[in-house]
Amino acid sequence: MGTATTKLHKRVDIRRNDTVKVMTGRDRGKEGRVLRVLPDEGRVLVEHVMTVKKHVRPNPQRNIKGGIAEQERAIPLSNVALVCGTCGPVRIGHEVQGERKVRVCKKCGATLDK
Ligand SMILES: [Zn+2]
Repeated sequence: MGTATTKLHKRVDIRRNDTVKVMTGRDRGKEGRVLRVLPDEGRVLVEHVMTVKKHVRPNPQRNIKGGIAEQERAIPLSNVALVCGTCGPVRIGHEVQGERKVRVCKKCGATLDK
């Protein structure tokens, strides 16, 4: 066995279906739903954010129509902030409620988990 390097596991506080606001970059100011979180890359895929137009070839076998499709590209997690329903984009805090640990808004203290 070689020397095992402990990978610093960065905790990601953004989850799928969260609403986030883009704080920096080309699409700054846009809000969208999180489609996918890529923790290893430190990136997140947000609906309608960082879209690129892609030409799609028709493929009748797979029922794909040709044309131009929009596709999102992942953006760095540090570029987005979770949106609190009351305060807007906020920093995330943590709180233990009974058995579970939930994410809370650092401003108003509201629970951000459903
Ligand atoms: Zn709040």
